[in-house]
Amino acid sequence: SSHGSTLLEVRSLRKTFGGIVAVDDLSFEIREGEVFGIIGPNGSGKTTVLNLISGLYQPDRGEIVFVGHKITGKAPEEIARLGIARTFQLVRIYPALTCLDHVTPAALFAGHARSLSDAREQARQLLEELGMAAYVHVPAGQLNFIDQKRLELARALALRPKLLLLDEWLAGLNPSEMLIGMELIESLRGRGMTIVLIEHLMQAVRRLCDRCIVMSFGQKIAEGLPGEVLRDREVVRVYLGE
Ligand code: ADP
Repeated sequence: SSHGSTLLEVRSLRKTFGGIVAVDDLSFEIREGEVFGIIGPNGSGKTTVLNLISGLYQPDRGEIVFVGHKITGKAPEEIARLGIARTFQLVRIYPALTCLDHVTPAALFAGHARSLSDAREQARQLLEELGMAAYVHVPAGQLNFIDQKRLELARALALRPKLLLLDEWLAGLNPSEMLIGMELIESLRGRGMTIVLIEHLMQAVRRLCDRCIVMSFGQKIAEGLPGEVLRDREVVRVYLGE
């Protein structure tokens, strides 16, 4: 697959929490249009990387450059406005609010709407595109799990991001929902979205990712095509726990 120029560059990133080195001298690049996987055992630093990219944490060392802007040190809102959106490992919904009311603020924030009703219309269209036309006015608390996940995705996409960060977005889905979820991610890729995904299911990594890195104790221990990386002896050793 032919992918474009560098969209995001992570350079020698380090993050510690007390005595724990969560991310250790980590560098990688994400190219426009690719689906980039971050895999590794629990506690290897994957979520911390997303938190650093989205500005929730500040690194101790290193920098992150997004389309020519150094984003390290910027606030999460600023980074979102520059075009990086994310979903969280645990869905963050307000049970009493309708789906439309979840997505509309993000559409307003993105700044492409002329008015509140325009933002609501954009939000409605996005929900429809994600297969949620029937739930536009339904309170989020009444949705089943995959639809709550879709809602989170809609909220992230309403920001019209250039880069979408998915933190175990497929986790907790049953096998048939998983297929729907993977198709959804593929359709986003088909529309040119650049995606970083943290994923535990190797089947999903193989199917979805153009490239991936493997982390262990905060460090990158492998990088490349999923098929190659998942055969790597060091990677197998880390996963099997020796
Ligand atoms: P992963 O996403 O690969 O499971 P994390 O990035 O969540 O790993 O965690 C990496 C390490 O950093 C773990 O040892 C974890 O306990 C620690 N850690 C992550 N976030 C915090 C935090 N906010 N405070 C203290 N320790 C943290």
